[in-house]
Amino acid sequence: MAKERVLITGAAGFLGSHLCDRFLKDGFEVVGMDNLITGTLTNIEHLFQNEHFQFYHHDVSKFVHVSGKLDYILHFASPASPIDYLKIPIQTLKVGSLGTHNLLGLAKSKKARMLIASTSEVYGDPLVHPQTEEYFGNVNPVGPRGVYDEAKRFQEAMTMAYHTFHGLETRIVRIFNTYGPRMRLNDGRVLPAFIGQALRGEDLTVFGDGSQTRSFCYVDDLIEGIVRLLMSDYAQPVNIGNPDEISIRDFAEEIIQLTGTSQKVIYKPLPQDDPMQRQPDITKAREILGWEPQVSRSEGLKITYDYFKSLPEERLFEKEYNTFEKYIKR
Ligand code: UDP
Repeated sequence: MAKERVLITGAAGFLGSHLCDRFLKDGFEVVGMDNLITGTLTNIEHLFQNEHFQFYHHDVSKFVHVSGKLDYILHFASPASPIDYLKIPIQTLKVGSLGTHNLLGLAKSKKARMLIASTSEVYGDPLVHPQTEEYFGNVNPVGPRGVYDEAKRFQEAMTMAYHTFHGLETRIVRIFNTYGPRMRLNDGRVLPAFIGQALRGEDLTVFGDGSQTRSFCYVDDLIEGIVRLLMSDYAQPVNIGNPDEISIRDFAEEIIQLTGTSQKVIYKPLPQDDPMQRQPDITKAREILGWEPQVSRSEGLKITYDYFKSLPEERLFEKEYNTFEKYIKR
């Protein structure tokens, strides 16, 4: 029987590259697509030898063409850090809206099942805790995160419309903070920021008083949850994340312990609209997908730290290691 074929957008990014690995391992033909603004080929260069992997350098905000059959489309192309949203707000809006529309059209024409990467950001600065899928959220559309949050909310609405109006098979995963090897070291996210600071011998920058919370999921757990959701018959949104919640101040202490750095914590102003608390309610994932995280934060952080330590030293000091800066000046 011919292998099933999957298109993964954002293939050169953190999550996209792990998805490519997983689907190749599971015996699929994988088509990766990325415009390499925030992704890097370094994440997938090991796949170019693989005869079951193909790569398209393309921006999905423009018309998307893929020849041959497609059984599944996973839309993971998007800037995904608050610093990125500030630097490339329009591209962030476009990939979530126009990009999603293009891919839904492609899915419809190929009769493929489409899974979109949504986010806990659809809950904004949540007034319900932990966040269940039924919660509508508390988002500021015109704040710095609005370009991401509203694009993702539109993306969900558009995907649901294709599902109900065109009968397209769709899946929506709401991804909570995830970490692991291949995160960008300099994208401003808290985990690479802290580990990078520890490795460079700088103080760790906690924003605000550090009482805001996040719940960090190790990437392998997330990927397993996504695969299970894709293969399920459930079209409503599902939270995938690790409910183990921690304050950012305590998280900084954990990184200090882990890295053995003699640096200290310093405090910087809290960015606007920074959510004060975040924890997924994963009852649905447990009941519908039989999924829950397996990797503890201490195990996951150790693997991630070893990865960052193994990078060439000059990477630690690079401002950006991809085409990002060049792109935004165009
Ligand atoms: N944060 C921090 N120091 C940093 C980077 C981030 O204290 O150097 C905080 C940030 O204000 C937020 C949390 O860590 O409260 C998580 O930030 P991140 O950018 O990783 O993702 P978010 O969950 O906010 O989208």
